[in-house]
Formats: sequence, C-alpha cells, structure tokens
Amino acid sequence: MRMVTFGQLLQFSVIKSTGSKVSRSSFSQFHKNKTSNKQANLIFIKAIVLERYKATISLYSQKDKGTFVYRNLVMGKRQLKFNSRTIHGGQAPDEAYGAVMPPIYQTSTYAQSTPGGHKGYEYSRSANPTRTALENSLASIENGNYGLAFGSGLAAIDAVIKLLRPGDEVISTSDLYGGSYRIFKKIFEKFGIVFHFVGMQDTEEIAKHISAKTKLIWLETPTNPMMNIIDIMSVSLLARKHKILLAVDNTFATPYLQLPLDLGADIVMHSATKYLGGHSDVVLGALVVKDKELAEQLYFIQNASGAVCGPMDSFLVLRGIKTLHVRMQRHCENGRAVAEYLANHPKIEKVFWPGFIDHPNHEVAKSQMKDFGGMISFVPKGGNFQDAIKIVEKLELFTLAESLGGVESLAGHPASMTHASIPKEEREKSGVVDALIRLSVGIEDKEDLIEDLREAIG
Ligand code: PLP
Repeated sequence: MRMVTFGQLLQFSVIKSTGSKVSRSSFSQFHKNKTSNKQANLIFIKAIVLERYKATISLYSQKDKGTFVYRNLVMGKRQLKFNSRTIHGGQAPDEAYGAVMPPIYQTSTYAQSTPGGHKGYEYSRSANPTRTALENSLASIENGNYGLAFGSGLAAIDAVIKLLRPGDEVISTSDLYGGSYRIFKKIFEKFGIVFHFVGMQDTEEIAKHISAKTKLIWLETPTNPMMNIIDIMSVSLLARKHKILLAVDNTFATPYLQLPLDLGADIVMHSATKYLGGHSDVVLGALVVKDKELAEQLYFIQNASGAVCGPMDSFLVLRGIKTLHVRMQRHCENGRAVAEYLANHPKIEKVFWPGFIDHPNHEVAKSQMKDFGGMISFVPKGGNFQDAIKIVEKLELFTLAESLGGVESLAGHPASMTHASIPKEEREKSGVVDALIRLSVGIEDKEDLIEDLREAIG
C-alpha cells in the first residue's frame, strides 16, 4: 500500500472542496433540506496509521459520500490486476478497530453533533458504510468510477429506466431475462416509454430502429437463455455516434470474463444475486458507471426511489466477490466439459454455448471475453417438451431451481420458469422453445456433474 502524507491529503481535500462548487447538482438536492452549503463542502478526514498497513486513509465527505474519494485514494489499488481487485479493490481495514472485513453496520441512522455535523453518513437509505464498501468494490472490479448497490437486479434496472422521460425510446435485445422484459413492457411502457426488442447479433439491425427519440440501448451478452453474443464495442460505437446511452447486463459474464465499460458501454448492470454473490444466499443488484454526472443522476434515483440493499446483504456480496475469480475459473472449466459432453450425446439435438467454434458469434465472444462461462442451454432430440421435463425431474446433483451463478449446479426450464412472463410467440421467436433446458454449471467435480446428466438423459 503506497503511503500518502497528511499534507498531500489536505491538499487533495482542498481541491475536492473547490471542485464541489462546480457540480453540486444532484448531490445538493440530495441533502438540500438538511445541510447548509458550507456543511455540504466539509470534508472530514481521518487518517489511521496502522502498524501493519502503514497508512490507511479514510475520507468522509458530505458531498461525495466520501467514499468515492476514498476508493481512489486507497493507494494504487486501481492499478492492481483483476484477481487482486476482487479482494482489495476499494477496500481498506475499518477505521474503528482495523477489521479487515467491513463490519455489518446494521443501523438506519447516525448520530450528529449539530444538524449536518456527522461523519458522512446520516440515513442508511442515502448511504451505509457496508453498502459503500460493496459499491467501491463493484466500481473497482468493473473498471468504473462509481458503483451503486440495489435491493435486486430488477431494482437496478428500474433505476436505469428512470433516467428516461415519457416518449423516450429504448432498443433492447429481444433475447433477454424474462423479468427485464416484464419490467420494460408491463411497468414502464404505461409511463410512455417505448421499447423495441431487436435481435442484436448484427449491429446493423439496431441501427434500423434508431430515431431521434432513442435514448437507451439495453443489451445482455451472453443472452439469457440462448447464449447469443452481442458485440459490445460495435454497439457502443453506434450508440456514441447517435448520443445514446448504452447499458450492458453483465450478469452472465461477470467482470472476470468481460468488461463492458472498457468496451465503450456507459452503464454496467448486474443481478449480483448470481455470480457476484455466488452462493445463492442473497438477492442484490448493482450498477457501475464511469461518468460522474451519470453517477449523480443514478445516485439521486437510488436515494429518491429507495430500492437499496441492506448492510447484511451488502456484506454477503462483498464476501462473494472476493472469490469471484477462482469460482469463475472453475465455472468455465466445468462449463466446457458439460457443453462438450452434451454436444456429443446422441439424445441431444442442440447445445447453446459460446465456446463452440460453430457458435454464430464465437469470434466476437473470443475477442471480448476471457473464457466462455458456465451457462449452457440445450434441447433434447426431437424438441419434445415432455422429454425436457423428464430430464430436469431426474437430475439429482443439478437442482431444479430458478436463478444461476451459485457454487452449486442448477437446472431450469426457461419457458415455465425464468421466461414465463414473455408471451410464447415472442419467446419462441428468439429460440426459447418449450423443450429448452438451461444449466448453471457449478463448481462441483465435473465427473459427478456429467454422471448426473448421463443418468437423467438416459
Ligand atoms: N438480469 C439477468 C440476466 C438475470 O438472470 C436476472 C435474474 O435472473 C436479472 C437480471 C434480475 O435480477 P434479480 O433477480 O436479482 O432481480
């Protein structure tokens, strides 16, 4: 950990307080009724010199929720490679007792010495130190500048769509998580936002739907459940050209496999319920952005709409992230073994996994992903619904359950489970037929997983 002198810190704090006059937009609205301008500019600095860690600096600023600054100042952490960042990115021992893991600050409110005289936290909907630790970690692993954690992935999506106004148009991939489709169609359409669902494997298709009203492109890659691959960089060039925001749901790939912000996306979204949490014990959502103004707008929505996650859940996801890289490595290894086994099985008609050379966008997957992940979909020979149901019922090690991305292997039947909210004609257009089975390959021994499939398929 690189040392920073107190003088350097003070110098930095002066820059920050001057800087804060420039853009006090959403944050000042945030705290408008509670704090004076002067107080809003106050930066509380606490430097704790721990023997072991030499210098660990905590900055708390009213305006910046302090910890944005904190993350950047935890000396050189942004320079760390990905695996190290999953463990250390944006983190420092807790200031009170040096706890290496952030305590679960199970509190709704914070003592003030005088109105506005607090240490950067006043009410846990606006900010909570455990959530801040997670938000800093999220920003770090996605190569962003600002992280935001929500009560669920859908709450995170909800916040993104609330950036828009009635009449605005969104182009979304047609093959996407059923819940995302549902919130777009059943919640936001009635507020006047228009959604176009388009196959995005070819960027030209997106271009055909762009109008002056298009404000957002929403994509998932790999898509859920068809494992289609969308070229993030090519879509981001198109989005930039037309000044349209690009949001990428990175739930399936995780930042271990792909970094959408580095490929030109404006917003990365996660159902952290999945690989980031990794243990099927928490529901949580996340957004990460690079741009400060966009972050301010999203923080305003996060606080104003209030769909935040609690400190215990923040802690669980933070703990999950610390092993993301080792879990993902094994998910990918097992995913490959299972995909190859299924592809060679005489009773299986089609296997969808981007690692196959004949996958339509395999080359794009290869260029934008580090590996191909542990999500696989397949259809039994003949495409018979009853055969698919028999298989998922017979599986033992693969649990038949909603969700994905945990250490344990899960099997799902998208047509009746995760994608039941999409009308049959719509979902079948993108390949989500009644006989499709989706696997989330866990990190058990691959031989056991293959044996389980062998017995279930018969
Ligand atoms: N995006 C994808 C790709 C998902 O698979 C899910 C949930 O399955 C979501 C978003 C929604 O996340 P959550 O269930 O955490 O609200």
